[in-house]
Amino acid sequence: MRNTWTHLYHQFCPDYCSRMGRVRLQVGPNSVWLCALMTVVVISLAVGCVSSPHPVYQFPLRKQTRYFDLHYERNSPQIEVMARFADGYINLINRDFFKPDFEYPIQVFVLGNQNRFENFVQRELHVPGPAGFGIYLYSNKLLATYEDSGLGTFTHETFHAFVERDLKSRPAWADEGVPTFFEKFYGYWKNDELVLFWGFQNPWRIRELGNNLTQLNLSEVLSDQNPESDESKLRMVSLFLWQQGRFRRFLKLIAANDKRGYASYFEAAMELPLEKIVSLWQNYLLDVDRRRAAILSLPLSTVFENEGEFRTFAKLHGISTEQVKQRD
Ligand SMILES: [Zn+2]
Repeated sequence: MRNTWTHLYHQFCPDYCSRMGRVRLQVGPNSVWLCALMTVVVISLAVGCVSSPHPVYQFPLRKQTRYFDLHYERNSPQIEVMARFADGYINLINRDFFKPDFEYPIQVFVLGNQNRFENFVQRELHVPGPAGFGIYLYSNKLLATYEDSGLGTFTHETFHAFVERDLKSRPAWADEGVPTFFEKFYGYWKNDELVLFWGFQNPWRIRELGNNLTQLNLSEVLSDQNPESDESKLRMVSLFLWQQGRFRRFLKLIAANDKRGYASYFEAAMELPLEKIVSLWQNYLLDVDRRRAAILSLPLSTVFENEGEFRTFAKLHGISTEQVKQRD
């Protein structure tokens, strides 16, 4: 059994003391995901770890849930809302996607505003800024963000934990291709169960892709080696898999380390060789381009208290509630 100091040491002095450390840094827009997410790879952050473990961050408010340990800098009605949503999200992942084999809890530190978040990231996490809207430190199982950064930041960053731990044999493009999938949704509470609708394009990402959208070369995107800088392109692939009903299968095949005899997990999920997928991909891009105006007016990710409110909202914004059935 570990003593307290050892426990804290391992908790805050990352295990990348002895290997290359990777720190992902996401930058969103106004309320999360409206501007380019940016990821920074920081190598050798471990300097000094051996002799001086990081301090335990003292935040005045703490809320422990089944899967998360939430720390808030100030009191806010958002604490209860986020605590409920956070566990609901993990239950939904377990139910609708795959069951991550993850050692919870995930530590979550929520600062009062973006400036205070930036200071926290630089002074306590020792990551150079700007940090943007949220950050997940793999080795510490630690997510940091600030109030008003939005639910999409939380779902995206949290999924990094599972990508790293449960999808170890993933291709490089999935490093961001998978977490970005989870950043856009609409839904409601059905008693204590979270119901979310997925597969929506993200307005700012489509805007960012601009005229390149219909020119995206599938094999080039799949062989991407810079996921941090190409998130918007990579998200197009995961949304394509979703639209084809193959996204969940893709995740499960990676988790099972099983390519079913294909050259890639992508082809295994599609049950087709790449050359036979290209025309489907091109049609998908053209379809997204045709719907560009409607996509650009999609509202922020939102969760409603009940199905009635959600249906009214969906109707108002022309949001489809037809979900593509995902095949295993
Ligand atoms: Zn990310």
